[in-house]
Amino acid sequence: MQTIRDIDTLRKAVVELKKDGAGIALVPTMGALHAGHLALVAAAKAEADHVIVSIFVNPAQFGPNEDLGRYPRQEAEDAAMLEAEGCAILWAPDAKTVYPEGFASKVSVAGVSSGMDGDARPGHFDGVATVVAKLFNQVQPDVAVFGEKDYQQLAVIRRMTRDLDLPVRIIGVPTQRDADGLALSSRNAYLSEEERAAARALPRVLGEAAAAIQEGADASEALGAARAKLEQAGFNPVDYVEMRDAETLETVSALSRPARILAAARIGTTRLIDNLAVMPVR
Ligand code: AMP
Repeated sequence: MQTIRDIDTLRKAVVELKKDGAGIALVPTMGALHAGHLALVAAAKAEADHVIVSIFVNPAQFGPNEDLGRYPRQEAEDAAMLEAEGCAILWAPDAKTVYPEGFASKVSVAGVSSGMDGDARPGHFDGVATVVAKLFNQVQPDVAVFGEKDYQQLAVIRRMTRDLDLPVRIIGVPTQRDADGLALSSRNAYLSEEERAAARALPRVLGEAAAAIQEGADASEALGAARAKLEQAGFNPVDYVEMRDAETLETVSALSRPARILAAARIGTTRLIDNLAVMPVR
């Protein structure tokens, strides 16, 4: 596996990989890799001849009071994991390469970017859409793989790709979880032992709400109960617990099509997000 940090070298390496018509899959990440990221790499391998993983802790998607400075960075360990998975290239540019002096452009996706994390993290999805558009142009993949863990992000990227006619097929991979249900996340490393134990309430409470709604409970009551249970478990604040259409992310109050319950909440200094499917019973 080659680790590449400049765009010229990347372009040449991509041309080389693509000769004879080979297909390329891109897995964008911010590093501190775990089994969730490796599930994306496995899906990428199944979709293309060569896998390129990017590691870039994108300053543009962090707010001024967020965790950019303390975000875990462990590139050597990450590279060893990706090498063992048979990845062709680790694309690891620095911030100056991605945002050169005078950088002044932005990709902004209306609609799906608003509400939920769009409200809680102003500018976050502009930062995500801009960097993913750039990564697509840098790497020129046939396929790109993202996790359902960041469900609203996946919807933003699907919308952007369709709207801008980007020639990339987007694949979503189900959320990978620890044995107790907590979604794997690089940010779980911030949790104390006590917080880690309490965090388990997040998937449990969402699962209970999803089951209640599927059994016919009033959605706003079930979501209100979920919020109260999260607060009781020690989450503070609970940014949102919402049910949205699984495809459009429009607000839904009754279950007539596949939906998703999505939540974000802070425990101690760590902000966690999660989401689960809610299916109409036939
Ligand atoms: P991150 O490094 O957190 O920006 O995540 C990079 C990619 O991995 C994104 O597409 C995430 O949605 C995905 N991802 C992160 N955690 C998980 C997980 N537990 N299961 C599946 N995909 C994940």
